[in-house]
Order: sequence, then structure tokens, then C-alpha cells
Amino acid sequence: MHMGTLVAITAVGRTQEEANAAITAGFQEVKRLEQLLSTWIPDSELSQVNAAAGRSAVRVSLETMVLVRKSLQVAEMTEGAFNIAIGPAVDAWNISAEPRLPTAEELAALKPLVDLQHVHTDVWERTIYLEKPGMRVDVGGIGKGYAADQAVMVMKKAGAMAGVVALSGDIKTFGRLPDGGVFRVGIQHPRKEGEIVAEIELQDEAISTAGDYERYFEKDGIQYHHILDPRTLQPARGCQSVSVIAKEGIWADGLDTGIFVLGAERGMELVEQLEDIEAIIVDRNGRVLISSGLRNRVRTSHGVDESKLNH
Ligand code: ADP
Ligand code: MG
Repeated sequence: MHMGTLVAITAVGRTQEEANAAITAGFQEVKRLEQLLSTWIPDSELSQVNAAAGRSAVRVSLETMVLVRKSLQVAEMTEGAFNIAIGPAVDAWNISAEPRLPTAEELAALKPLVDLQHVHTDVWERTIYLEKPGMRVDVGGIGKGYAADQAVMVMKKAGAMAGVVALSGDIKTFGRLPDGGVFRVGIQHPRKEGEIVAEIELQDEAISTAGDYERYFEKDGIQYHHILDPRTLQPARGCQSVSVIAKEGIWADGLDTGIFVLGAERGMELVEQLEDIEAIIVDRNGRVLISSGLRNRVRTSHGVDESKLNH
């Protein structure tokens, strides 16, 4: 368990030792990044940035700066649907620890804090400053994809010829299996446990899934999950799940969360505009939408709405 999730690493090496060394290196890298980025760890760099909100800028490593800057880029791409200033709202719902239903007043009071205008990054000084007291950045929506990328990098350095790094739904693959095969990944059905919606083969690609079915709680018959709409600070309701395929995990992970908030239709429009980004979206009614670049690549096991395929 790292970054709040189950991490599984597979490596192909010329020898058993080489494969094992690559796996060890991969896990160490994930642990290192957790120390840097987790807002659950009180002395992580991002926790220090959060603790200094409204007071001072905090100097961070180049890596943290890169991740935060790329997070801001995803925010721009998704018209603010992806927003790492979501921290105070994530804390108010506390879905990963002790879930509760915040009042409308409470959320309204937090709203001014969830504003990227008040996140200041100085690349030259390498500092991050959160302008208002109470602001908190949370990279839970993008950090696991980034960690998968970095783990793959160290595994290659350690000599692995191929492999998979999976932080539960954030998966990055590289190379081919010894028999020449590529890695096949199944996308879980958001409403039928143990069933898959689609299967896809990946080579030197990442896939990341954001869903409403894994971290949630129920109150008075309503399910509340962990992906929040920055406009309302309520769980986003436009999709059941969003899987994004990209060359790098950082984009796949950032975009899956952002597209989930944007909703199926606008989300798919965005995917079609972006180069090297593909997606499989299960919309709020359970319809499966597949981006044009995946049409010949996915095998679906459930009724895909053909009218939604982009021919
Ligand atoms: P997971 O693999 O944990 O399900 P996701 O990529 O689906 O990760 O991201 C969910 C996490 O992102 C939440 O737990 C929260 O920390 C953060 N988050 C929630 N809403 C947003 C948002 N609108 N923009 C950016 N991050 C968010
Ligand atoms: Mg994500």
C-alpha cells in the first residue's frame, strides 16, 4: 500500500535477479514520491506548502514544481474542472477516512479557497505560495499517474526490458512480454463488480481510470464519491467512469479526473481535440463512449452505443 492504494509491479528482465532489482527500484521510487507529495504525510513538501498558506512561499524540489505546473496545465485544458486547490473541499468530505456530509454553508465558505488564481508558482525561485489562509493543494487526482511514470523510468534504468506499474487504476506499461505479446488491460464495469467493460492492449502507454464506485459513502440512499466538481464542491455526476490512455501516466491521471468532472459529452469532445489522448467513458446512464482513435483497439463486452462512436 502506497499513496493510499495497492501498488503492483511486474518486471521482465534477462535474469530473475535483474527483474527483482527493477521491482525493488520501482517500489522505492513510489515511496520516495509519496514522501514528497502526499498531503497525508505532515512533513511532505506539499504539506509544508499547505501549512504556509496565507503566510509565506515555500521552496520545493524541481519535481514538485513540475507536477504542480503540469496540474495547472490540466486545469487549463479542462476549463478548471481539474483543480488541485480542491483540498479544503476534499477535507470537508473526508471520503477516504471518515466520510461526512458537509452543509451547504460550509461548502460555500470554502468556495473562495478553491481558486487557482491564488496558487502562485515561481519557477525561477522554485517556490509555491498559496495566497489565502486555509488553502490546500491536493494532487490526489494526478500524483499516482506521475508516480507510475517515474517508477517505470527507474525500472528501465535498473535493466528491465518490459513491465507494468499499477497503482490500482493508474497503470503504466513498457516494452513487450518475452513471447512478443503486449500487456492487456481490462477496464472494470462501474456497476457490475468483477465484470469488465472493455479490454485493451497497451504498449509503452499509460491508462488511468477515475470512477465513482471505489471511494464513496452512502447517506439516505444517495452515494457520495470522491471526485468533486470545483464549481459546487459536490461529487461530480456526469460519469460513472472515465479511462484515459496516454503516453504518460501524468496526463492520463490528470485528465481522467478532469474529464469525469466535465461530463461525458464535453469530456469526449476534449479527448478528440487532444493528440495522443484516447478515452473510454461510461456516462451517467451507463452508456459506453469510445474515442475515435480506439475504435479498432478495444474489445467491448457490453453494449457500446454505436451512435456515439466517432466514425
Ligand atoms: P483515484 O485513483 O484515487 O480514484 P482519481 O484520479 O480518480 O484518483 O482522483 C481522485 C482524487 O483527486 C480525490 O481523492 C481528490 O484527492 C482529488 N480530486 C477530487 N476532485 C478533484 C478535482 N475536481 N480536481 C482535481 N483533483 C480532484
Ligand atoms: Mg486522476
